[in-house]
Amino acid sequence: MKTRFVTIDEKEPQADRIEAAAQIIRDGGLVAFPTETVYGLGGNALDPEASRRIYAAKGRPSDNPLIAHIADFAQLGPLVAEVPEAARILMKTYWPGPMTLIFQKSDLVPKSTTGGLDTVAVRMPSHPVARALIRAAGVPIAAPSANLSGRPSPTRASHVLEDMDGRIDMILDGGEVGIGLESTIIDVTGPEPALLRPGYISEEMIRELFAGMTVDAASIGPVSPDMHPKAPGMKYRHYAPKAQMTIVRGEAAAVQQKICALAGEELRAGKKVGLICTQESRPVYENRLKGIGPGEIGRADSCGAGGEEQALDLVTVGSRRDGASIAHNLYDVLRSFDTAGVDVIYSESFEGGQLGGAIMNRLKKAAGYHILDV
Ligand code: AMP
Ligand code: MG
Repeated sequence: MKTRFVTIDEKEPQADRIEAAAQIIRDGGLVAFPTETVYGLGGNALDPEASRRIYAAKGRPSDNPLIAHIADFAQLGPLVAEVPEAARILMKTYWPGPMTLIFQKSDLVPKSTTGGLDTVAVRMPSHPVARALIRAAGVPIAAPSANLSGRPSPTRASHVLEDMDGRIDMILDGGEVGIGLESTIIDVTGPEPALLRPGYISEEMIRELFAGMTVDAASIGPVSPDMHPKAPGMKYRHYAPKAQMTIVRGEAAAVQQKICALAGEELRAGKKVGLICTQESRPVYENRLKGIGPGEIGRADSCGAGGEEQALDLVTVGSRRDGASIAHNLYDVLRSFDTAGVDVIYSESFEGGQLGGAIMNRLKKAAGYHILDV
């Protein structure tokens, strides 16, 4: 299949380009498009054949349900059995925006879209391209993140192209997305709302509305094989770069010291090391690690001229003073390690602030919950 790559104005999307994409959706095809969270891989949420194609394009296990995206409140009613009061409050506060709600589904929604579940996930995005596309298609659009299953979600059209070229009909390139992490998911089918996945809208923000909100264990820790998380996708490895990543957690100076020790050892052993730091800590690693290489212990099979310098892939993810910058860049950084072909990755940890919960949720999964406390 030839994938059409089409640029689109992210603020005022060109009507003819939106219409071409909408026609593909109506015909059962697949279009990747930007949302305010990450790029989505869209197909008609009411067409079982389209959702089958989404699973195939992503290589996604078919029990990992899709989120249906709508553009207007009127589109919600037909998809769900009921709209609980808690959902009304949440929708009024955070839609359109980066929040997904889980409802009991109506008969209209095929089980192939919901991974066999009787519930359906629905979100109303705020991104102008997403909204224009859903409106023009005239159907709710099922749109998981537009990456190959298991890889970091795409935050730029170039990431989508990396994973989806030849697998889908069209990519709408609306530039870099704003937030960079997937939506907050809240289950509203129970007596109290339950947080299934943290996102830009934090646990604390929802708790201000619902003090009794529960938090699904799978959103904070590893999922054992016998666990049945409410959000089925949580049992799969996610967001992960190819190299094993270790998060070092603790007080800043101790973290930096530990990472320098571990990374230094790997560099001396001739390994290529990826390191995720912040603007604030970068100089520490530059001073202590740049130039360390296998030459130091006299190995003959070192990486050759300049190898020592390049063996350290030191990447600044953002600033500690600006959690949004870390969220925005995280997936691009994780992907860059695959391109660079590093052997191991070390990352500082980024708790705190509105986005700390969401960032750490993704980072821990990417690291397979490999965490060192210092
Ligand atoms: P994404 O990976 O961004 O496509 O998000 C899809 C995720 O939403 C899935 O992996 C699930 O964790 C969650 N989800 C979708 N539908 C449901 C549902 N009916 N019940 C619970 N979680 C859901
Ligand atoms: Mg995803």
